[in-house]
Amino acid sequence: MPDLKFENANALYIHLPFCSSKCPYCDFYSVKYTKQRVDLYWAALFMELEELTQKVNNDLLQTIYLGGGTPSLVDPFFIGELIKKIKNSFRVIPAAEITMEINPASITEEKITALKRAGINRLSVGIQSFNDQHLKFLGRRSSSENNKRILTLVDQYFDSYSADLIFALPEQSLNEFEIDIEELLKFNPPHISLYNLEIHENTPFYQRYNQGELKLPTEELDAEMYELALEKLKTAGYQHYEISNFARRGYRARHNYIYWLYQPYLALGPGAAAFDGNCRSQNLADLNLYLRYYNPKNSTFVEFMDNAGGKNSELEGRAMKNPKTKATKIRELNCLSKKERMAEYSFLALRTAKGLFYHKFYQQFNVDFKSLYKEEIAELKENKLIKEGNERIYLTNRGKEVANKVFLKFLLD
Ligand code: SF4
Repeated sequence: MPDLKFENANALYIHLPFCSSKCPYCDFYSVKYTKQRVDLYWAALFMELEELTQKVNNDLLQTIYLGGGTPSLVDPFFIGELIKKIKNSFRVIPAAEITMEINPASITEEKITALKRAGINRLSVGIQSFNDQHLKFLGRRSSSENNKRILTLVDQYFDSYSADLIFALPEQSLNEFEIDIEELLKFNPPHISLYNLEIHENTPFYQRYNQGELKLPTEELDAEMYELALEKLKTAGYQHYEISNFARRGYRARHNYIYWLYQPYLALGPGAAAFDGNCRSQNLADLNLYLRYYNPKNSTFVEFMDNAGGKNSELEGRAMKNPKTKATKIRELNCLSKKERMAEYSFLALRTAKGLFYHKFYQQFNVDFKSLYKEEIAELKENKLIKEGNERIYLTNRGKEVANKVFLKFLLD
């Protein structure tokens, strides 16, 4: 099977696909958490890690990111073993950023301190809201009070952490969102991410939206909420360094920055995607297939899956019938054309406050950005969605509000 050729990848993403229940807006790949599933997953993950070490060249990891799913459901002992294994397998710089996502509903003070001992040095806390009704609507298992309690603990033990909020919920008022921001600012987190609710296909919210049950805020209200957040966070001293991300000086997310700079990154786990600068390879989002591929002789998992509860996919059914057959295909490789890479590079660079520098684009593609996108730049400038200056372009606040529409302009026929 063709595969990526990694040179100088600095980031590693690991997907931990376990959740207690499925939030109705979420389209990330996850299965129901059980301890046995995690035990089996860990053995397979270590095998994929070993396989990955054979493929890399000159890699010096600067960031490691454990996302999910709900990584905080996993016993910190496993997290410690995983970090040890990564450090033994790769060259990891001493000041590497090692982030883990945590859900306030599945974390305790004991786990927070254990994660710190395990080598995690940055937490990303999925707060989403301080409004109990909104938390319930989003299917979150935490409460406003618990969110505050966990943030206090995280702040006590971790110097670097991020807190996420979701806004533009159906029926949410501007004032309700303002209260969420103010509550969050009381904790003075070093980093904040703000996302507006997106309706993804194949989610319960998508069905409800199509049946007319969910009425999203108007574009104007969505924009008002975003502008309010920009103003409040700026006043509170945060740098708005990327469309959805805000940080105090010295606390930008280094891992995500590697994505935005279009640099190569490694990835492990079902559903996780890696990039070598030209091609993207995505592990198929199917835990059973993954277990079968990396641990085909372990028939125990097959019996176990039978009894695991949760929804078995058709594929899981087939895996159970042929427990000892190694899955042949574990990932999909998608090599991008130069046009596609130039478009992706442009979207990602424009997400950052610094924007897209013409000379960097030229270094990457040997193409003059201004000539290539002459008409698009003129139109976006005319509509006040981008600004030009110092040999770069960057989004205006209005451009950030409608960023997806701006990005479409950079797709080449
Ligand atoms: S906890 Fe996170 S990953 Fe799991 S379903 Fe909810 S939003 Fe998705």
